Amino acid sequence: MESIGVLMACPMSTYLEQELSKRFNLFKFWNFPQKDAFFKEHALSIRAVVGNATAGADSAFIDALPSLEIVSSYSVGLDKIDLGKCKEKGIRVTNTPDVLTDDVADLAIGLILTTLRGICACDRYVRAGLWKTKGDFKLTTKFTGKTVGIIGLGRIGLAIAKRAEAFSCPITYYSRTEKPDLKYKYYPSVVELASNCDILIVACPLTAETRHIVNREVIDALGPKGLLINIGRGPHVDEAELVSALVEGRLGGAGLDVYENEPEVPEKLFGLDNVVLLPHVGSGTVETRNAMADLVVGNLEAHFSKKPLLTPVV
Ligand code: NAP
Repeated sequence: MESIGVLMACPMSTYLEQELSKRFNLFKFWNFPQKDAFFKEHALSIRAVVGNATAGADSAFIDALPSLEIVSSYSVGLDKIDLGKCKEKGIRVTNTPDVLTDDVADLAIGLILTTLRGICACDRYVRAGLWKTKGDFKLTTKFTGKTVGIIGLGRIGLAIAKRAEAFSCPITYYSRTEKPDLKYKYYPSVVELASNCDILIVACPLTAETRHIVNREVIDALGPKGLLINIGRGPHVDEAELVSALVEGRLGGAGLDVYENEPEVPEKLFGLDNVVLLPHVGSGTVETRNAMADLVVGNLEAHFSKKPLLTPVV
């Protein structure tokens, strides 16, 4: 397989680079500043692309690679891949489901606790010496028992629900279809869900349908005591509306792992203690990222040895 050209769309993980280099002829796209020259020289030899949540394979990228057979994504989300075009051209697509579910769910609970209990603000308070000079930190908000509303009760949404149950939280959700086997309360619209929960969590895939699924109406329904947690994708939330709601006090708080235009984060949020900002690290542990890398490599090996793909999407 050493002669098979595999193109990594952007830097992801040293371990993944090493494992790919051992098996394939690896091209790192970011090492080729002259993109036109790269395509001219190497396009015909590239049979696989490895993408992630930052860069995948859009329509133009696919058109530029006439020998492309498979896109193996180092992410579960597929929003950076033109799935329709892949289907049309017979290009296979794989992702990394399940192996990252626990980490993302853990982080969602971490974001709830850090935001409601002001853990990051408390830490800043101690480090700045304010405990000594200003006295005790202000009172914060209890998590246990709050109603949690989840948009997208899939692998990650369900794992968040299980964790929140351990905090005695009633669980409610919205998704396109009701899950009758589950005991959680279903709402047929996001606005109804937001009106009836304390903590709204975004855990659905990013598609044309779910872009700005959290808009002004949803934010207003969640209200000045409500908390928004986004561990899905930035464009799920109308960020301009979110920022103005937080600045004006129309929303209680937000815990965000993802943003509309990463790595740009609205600076107006930097001064707010009721907001916790993470740099898209949902699956970012050594254990999980290595498991994701193994899946990417395993899918490519399966494809090029004409075996069934491990985690096929297309
Ligand atoms: P999943 O198992 O496919 O679950 C997605 C759920 O969303 C499904 O239950 C689906 O239910 C629901 N859904 C789909 N379209 C919807 C719509 N239009 N409106 C409302 N609900 C909808 O996916 P997963 O593994 O849980 O991953 C979910 C997402 O998390 C990924 O796509 C990714 O964007 C994000 N993620 C983020 C990070 C991070 O680092 N922050 C890491 C991993 C994943 P129905 O079919 O019933 O609608």
